[in-house]
Amino acid sequence: RKGTAIITGASSGLGLATAKALAETGKWHVIMGCRDFLKASRAAKAAGMPKDSYTIVHLDLASLDSVRQFVKNVRQLEMPVDVVVCNAAVYQPTAKEPSYTADGFEMSVGVNHLGHFLLARELLADLQSSDYPSKRLIIVGSITGNTNTLAGNVPPKANLGDLRGLAGGLNGVNSSVMIDGGEFDGAKAYKDSKVCNMLTMQEFHRRYHEETGVTFASLYPGCIATTGLFREHIPLFRLLFPPFQKYITKGYVSEEEAGKRLAQVVSDPSLTKSGVYWSWNKNSASFENQLSEEASDADKAKKLWEISEKLVGLA
Ligand code: NDP
Repeated sequence: RKGTAIITGASSGLGLATAKALAETGKWHVIMGCRDFLKASRAAKAAGMPKDSYTIVHLDLASLDSVRQFVKNVRQLEMPVDVVVCNAAVYQPTAKEPSYTADGFEMSVGVNHLGHFLLARELLADLQSSDYPSKRLIIVGSITGNTNTLAGNVPPKANLGDLRGLAGGLNGVNSSVMIDGGEFDGAKAYKDSKVCNMLTMQEFHRRYHEETGVTFASLYPGCIATTGLFREHIPLFRLLFPPFQKYITKGYVSEEEAGKRLAQVVSDPSLTKSGVYWSWNKNSASFENQLSEEASDADKAKKLWEISEKLVGLA
């Protein structure tokens, strides 16, 4: 039978390119979890995805109710859940003030981490009951959260500190809106959220890999300088960032190439190892990359897991 992969944020950029790459193989059905149904359906058509290769299901990660409803709707499709890809993200580098999810969390961490945390926890049971030979839960990471890299050292650097802001609910009322308790900084909030994504993947691996046989993985697909992720950046940045990445840092990858990389993590029979953060070298060959000290801190991962559980109502 065909595999079924859920991809969040499949209406543009990396998510769309991955959905297209999987659909084109004829071996995958993609459930596109998207907040804007019309945009997603136009994007899938414009990408040339065969009509019977995808199903769009509404998902707004900025609302925990929406996440729970999405899980119910997916179950009603009565399709197996073989792979889940937590891909959607917001990035607000120029925001002067924080914005908030429906549940009152600062938006970047609320969407990129907490919404996905609840989604992944809920769908673990569905993955477990699938009879697919290689079941996977993938959380898209990033180099920018990794302070052991050049890109990860561009200020403001990711730093979760002692997680006091997160423990307080990240709401700006009785806690800071930043995980470490500091002042709001949109670029840092994004990087922090990516560290949470990478810590969460490893904590899933430690808690559930043996018991469930599910492969847990994260990845840095390369710098996809052309996606909508940079939509809120100043125009000059958006103009210069792609050529800068292409010719100076040489970290640039096209959306198509990045989509193929993530599709490999979804389906390649050689990428079944769990607990791995995948990256690709100049020749587009995958390798197991090292995470920064903070992004591989097991005590922090455990603490993050426990606080996140409380915030999304699982504990
Ligand atoms: P895009 O902005 O193109 O895609 C982000 C997707 O997330 C969009 O489909 C967007 O939906 C969706 N999204 C945003 N907010 C929500 C929400 N509240 N609920 C549901 N969906 C939402 O960016 P990219 O493709 O670049 O980013 C994809 C992933 O790749 C992210 O995890 C990012 O961190 C990661 N990444 C990107 C890199 C890059 O260089 N671009 C480098 C490394 C990692 P909509 O279309 O409705 O806006």
